[in-house]
Amino acid sequence: MARFCLSSHFLTALCAGLIFASSVGASSLAVYGGNQAKYVFLFVGDGLGMPQRAAATEYLKDSGLERRLVMESMPVHGVTTTQAADRFITGSAAAGTAMATGVKTNIGCIGVDANLRSVTTLAEKAKREGIKVGIISSVSIDHATPAAFYAHQPSRSMYHEIDHELAESEIDFFGGGGFKDPEGIKSKAPLGDAVEAAKTNGFTVVDSRRGIMGLKKGSGKVIAVNPRLPDGKAMPYDMDRDTNDVSLSEFTGKAVELLDGEQGFFIMVEGGKIDWACHANDAAAAIKDTLAFDDAVSVAVDFAKEHPDDTLVVVTGDHECGGLALGFSGTKYATSYSLMNNQTKSHQAFLDDIFATYLKKKGRFKGAMKLVETHFGLSTDAEGSLKLKPYEVDELKRAYKSSLKGETLKPGMADYMLYGSYDPFTMQLTHMLNRKAGLGWTTYSHTGVPVLTSAFGTGATLFSGYYDNTDIAKKISHIMNL
Ligand SMILES: [Zn+2]
Repeated sequence: MARFCLSSHFLTALCAGLIFASSVGASSLAVYGGNQAKYVFLFVGDGLGMPQRAAATEYLKDSGLERRLVMESMPVHGVTTTQAADRFITGSAAAGTAMATGVKTNIGCIGVDANLRSVTTLAEKAKREGIKVGIISSVSIDHATPAAFYAHQPSRSMYHEIDHELAESEIDFFGGGGFKDPEGIKSKAPLGDAVEAAKTNGFTVVDSRRGIMGLKKGSGKVIAVNPRLPDGKAMPYDMDRDTNDVSLSEFTGKAVELLDGEQGFFIMVEGGKIDWACHANDAAAAIKDTLAFDDAVSVAVDFAKEHPDDTLVVVTGDHECGGLALGFSGTKYATSYSLMNNQTKSHQAFLDDIFATYLKKKGRFKGAMKLVETHFGLSTDAEGSLKLKPYEVDELKRAYKSSLKGETLKPGMADYMLYGSYDPFTMQLTHMLNRKAGLGWTTYSHTGVPVLTSAFGTGATLFSGYYDNTDIAKKISHIMNL
């Protein structure tokens, strides 16, 4: 039976100078009489809307793969609204804060309410109860979503200050990407090296695959950073992962191994690059990062099956991204998502590892098209669905000229709607391949469509229905009796 201890928590919160987010807000909580969950996983797919999930499902089917998404096989699903306090289309900071604290806040705010007062997070409440906490993200570990669980700052871009909050925290396990500003290069008042501060506060910092996979129980507080951080201190896109990298599911498995025990745990796992892929309108990268995210979910579900009486697994998204549409005017009712298999690398790796060098040499369009054939399967002389029409070759020529100019487009400029602020040629390529597959995009930003939340295990029934992202924190808090 879940019990309440509101007054003592309230006092604790006041003593800590924090505003306490009520855990008894939603009426459905009052009827929950199930077990308390001792082991709780919260999976946040950044940018993971219903279209992203459905695209991954259809991709598997169209590619002839037997696999079914683990998150789609969960017994309970609900619809979650995502708006921020001050804007309908949310961002990861406001959405992360809502899910971490149960409090609606403004765009850009991390762990503070709309009046910039600190609010206690699920992770902090769990730590006070002696529960182990793990925070994992495929993007930098100080990025908005993970930061919302351990930091309190008026702006998500105060990475240095967030890094120091991480260093001073009592969180047991951090895993995934690195730090964006440990030395305070972008800070007005640098606080010293955050990585050193973390070590002083008892963290072991590991950044090799061997070191991470070799971590054993009793290692103490850990910061495990993937050895390769190709962009923005994030892990590579899953489709670019190599044998020296640690996958999101491996980080999740390691957290489970290290934190499993009598005290119980709360583990938050963010699939952060689904969002980045969708900002860049790169469906192949988005789908493959969604599959990697689902692999991590599968680790949690396996654990839940071994601990069926007291484990809860919740999977949600913080918002949709890109306005991904599963249908395109040029292909009418046809879809062929397996065409994504023609793309060998994410847009980012194609640009960084291949196209940038060619562009620097001011190579000819014809040579660039050779790269396109190898890495996207699009060709002027190939047979079949990926043969480019003359007007498509013209579109690519135009984009190529724009890439040669090297300017970054801004909203309001003529070609912004074509390429966003990305490399025009790369963007044209992902758009072209996505359109041939029967996928469309409306924006390089987030959208306001509600997301799907799925749940498995103890207390999962509370996640059916239509509710707000703040309710996710309230429901978890209730089921954990925090
Ligand atoms: Zn985003």
